[in-house]
Amino acid sequence: MDQAGVTAQTTKSPWGSVAPAAPTCSLTEVMSEQLAKQLDEEDSAFRTLPDPGVDLLLSDDAPDTTSDLMLAQMLQMQYDREFDDQLRREEKKFNGDSKVSISFENYRMVHPYEGSDSSEDEVDWQDTRDDPYRAEKPQTTPRRGFSGKGKNITTKHDEVTCGRKNTARMDNFAPEVLVGDGLGMDLKLSNQVFNSLKQHCYSEQRRSAKLHEKKEHSTAEQAVDPRTRLLMYKMVSAGVLENINGCISTGKESVVFHADGGSLEEQPVPDEVVLKVFKTTLNEFKNRDRYIKDDYRFKERFSKLNPRKIIRLWAEKEMHNLTRMKKAEIPCPEVVLLKKHILVMSFIGKDHVPAPKLKDAMLGSEDLKNAFYQVLHMMQQLYQECNLVHADLSEYNMLWHEGKVWLIDVSQSIEPTHPHGLEFLFRDCRNVSTFFQKRGVSEALSVYDLFNTVSGLNIPVGVEDEAEFMAEIVALEKRNEDHVQKRGKKTFPVASEDADPPLKPDADD
Ligand code: ADP
Ligand code: MG
Repeated sequence: MDQAGVTAQTTKSPWGSVAPAAPTCSLTEVMSEQLAKQLDEEDSAFRTLPDPGVDLLLSDDAPDTTSDLMLAQMLQMQYDREFDDQLRREEKKFNGDSKVSISFENYRMVHPYEGSDSSEDEVDWQDTRDDPYRAEKPQTTPRRGFSGKGKNITTKHDEVTCGRKNTARMDNFAPEVLVGDGLGMDLKLSNQVFNSLKQHCYSEQRRSAKLHEKKEHSTAEQAVDPRTRLLMYKMVSAGVLENINGCISTGKESVVFHADGGSLEEQPVPDEVVLKVFKTTLNEFKNRDRYIKDDYRFKERFSKLNPRKIIRLWAEKEMHNLTRMKKAEIPCPEVVLLKKHILVMSFIGKDHVPAPKLKDAMLGSEDLKNAFYQVLHMMQQLYQECNLVHADLSEYNMLWHEGKVWLIDVSQSIEPTHPHGLEFLFRDCRNVSTFFQKRGVSEALSVYDLFNTVSGLNIPVGVEDEAEFMAEIVALEKRNEDHVQKRGKKTFPVASEDADPPLKPDADD
């Protein structure tokens, strides 16, 4: 059949009249129409996506839209990152080899830290207020205060000049102040208008700085920046957690949440768990470098990592230490899962009520005495069986639950052969000894005896002079370091089968 036969012409037909066909449309047009429709639909669907800022933890969202939300957020993050990459390239090109560089920081989509999975993404603290696209500076009145001659003389107080100058000065307002396109036209702002504009601009800036500070604080303080929330949300959507209930504690380095356990394939998840979220702000962790930097287990990796990864290392360290402790049957939380900087572990407490810290527990004298012996025993086990020193042991990091002391917070715990391991142990002993002595436990050992009992070292105590005792400790650490340097081996002190025999303080190398 002829192709024209299918065209729109109303033709005489032996079978009667044929209804007029739809207007002609080529195949490509049909295709593009469909495409247009499809694009339109996609576009409107995209527009109706929920605001990525909505609380991810609201688990009663409809299940089919939640994954879309996640997808959209991930795409957005990806887009923002690409945008920032492009911006970075432009910034580099713009600045070239110039000694003075201008930062495009203010125009970035992703927070410099949020996007920093690679060490290239360093925060640029340069002044970012300069706009690279700033217009040419306006003509200024010469120093003498007037220009022109005779009748045409114009002083710096001239209304038109002043007005123009004021308009140009709007350019100095902060980048976030929208001055419209006034700069591009011959606008003359009177001094009065300009001054009130300037005043408004300053107060806005102060207000915005305050708001910004607050926002930064709330996310940083809570450690639940969008990425962390996404991670937590994923745990809920994967069924590992049933629900995340609320915050138990906000510390300097971490935020701890209570959650209802869900299920994991290989292992049971306790009914109640905690999520310890290591803070993704770096400041607090800077002081702690020495715990991890010199821990030979992490030393290799530490030097190669960017700050975000170092924070993950803290979480990882806590996980490893807890696992060692569990093996030695020390009462401590059981690790459920580690996901980046979030550690999920069993909850010490009951029915959403966390066990009290030893400092807050109301204990009778018998319980206190028992608690002391338990702590002493745990410290020995930790040192001798787990080859660990807690390094932040105090009544704040021991919980009282079911008539027992439980040890928590071991992210900073190190091996005794750490260059400062014995000093940390001494500090732990002092905290423990002081706490129990203050609570009237007559059995509590002195810091020196506790140190020797835990470590199995026999540092002379007779003088009871802390400086002398510390000097012995430092000498031991030094000798150990030298030994490690020379023979690649530690000299002291664990009594476990696979370790070297304990070194007596006076023993020769
Ligand atoms: P930080 O490094 O911030 O001190 P911690 O591990 O000590 O972190 O946790 C802070 C607080 O959270 C603890 O004092 C304790 O009250 C609570 N907490 C931590 N882990 C648990 C847990 N497994 N069960 C119950 N409460 C916990
Ligand atoms: Mg703590």
